[in-house]
Amino acid sequence: MLDIASLIEFLAQPKKIVITTHHKPDGDAMGSSLGLYNYLIQLGHHATVIAPTDYPQNLSWMPGNGDVVIYTENVERSTTLIAEAEMIFCLDFNALSRINDMGILVGKSSAFKVMIDHHLEPADFDDYRYWDINACATAQLVYTFIVEELNNKKLINKDVATCLYAGILTDSASFSLPNTTSAVHRIVADLIDAGAPNYHIHDLIYNNSSESRLRFLGYCLSEKLEVFYEYNTAIITVSKQDLEKYGIITGDTEGIVNYALSITGIRLAAFIVERTDMVKLSLRSKGEFPANEICKKYFNGGGHRNAAGGMSNSNLQDVINQFKLILPEYKKLLIQ
Ligand code: 5GP
Ligand code: MN
Repeated sequence: MLDIASLIEFLAQPKKIVITTHHKPDGDAMGSSLGLYNYLIQLGHHATVIAPTDYPQNLSWMPGNGDVVIYTENVERSTTLIAEAEMIFCLDFNALSRINDMGILVGKSSAFKVMIDHHLEPADFDDYRYWDINACATAQLVYTFIVEELNNKKLINKDVATCLYAGILTDSASFSLPNTTSAVHRIVADLIDAGAPNYHIHDLIYNNSSESRLRFLGYCLSEKLEVFYEYNTAIITVSKQDLEKYGIITGDTEGIVNYALSITGIRLAAFIVERTDMVKLSLRSKGEFPANEICKKYFNGGGHRNAAGGMSNSNLQDVINQFKLILPEYKKLLIQ
């Protein structure tokens, strides 16, 4: 275990550092990783962000994006970087299974491992932990880590601020979730003061869809949405053929589940999609309803109370049927 004093002392000299995040990185994964990257390079560290897999095109513009190494496309280089790293920052995940094959390499490495995260139930693989489930985004924690733990607010420059803003914006669902506290808004104000072009970041993330993605969204809403009013639940289910027909690529399905949750009275929404090797579920809920409990209990997954995910090796129709059969168990919580 490291304490903060030894961590600060360790970072006082340039080090070889790897920053990694969960597979299929989202806005917070990339924003927090690149925010930390842009901080560390100012101190002369040899830092590299390694993403376990590729990520959506609307996240591929952040400062430092050109230096990101994608593990699945650069296995040899990533393996060397991890083996030579003296410190590995693990951002926005808390179990090595969330970084796929990279988990074995990180687990074997003798580097100091620093976890910065806001997910429930962290696994024990780290040497230093900066963890708070009340944080709305890991990017929020990277901000307070730099400002309060490392006492280095002056290094929150425009690049750092831009990435951290993107992380907070996306993980708080545009500042709409209950954990978007006044403290978060103060941090966001600091980031704008430090140069984050907030209107432009919003545009790059949310007004950056392909035509086919938009048509696919229309198809999901008009043809694939089912509403179960007796359970205040709505689901959208799509098959492999649907994805192929619309030429859907990484990131295109992100956020579609929120439309199902936007129907008045709906407390639980699910997006169930047949991928090549499994069926993936994305759940969103309102208030106290524990979406993560369903994912953990039935779909080998987990997550936050209001945003969770899981998977199944059964076929799509069986997963849809299973999901519907689970609803009566939660009826009481769903209709209150
Ligand atoms: P999404 O629906 O966007 O894929 O995931 C929402 C949240 O659920 C993520 O931020 C992550 O915390 C969690 N999540 C998604 N898939 C999984 C999974 O397979 N396992 C676990 N433990 N959490 C997941
Ligand atoms: Mn996050």
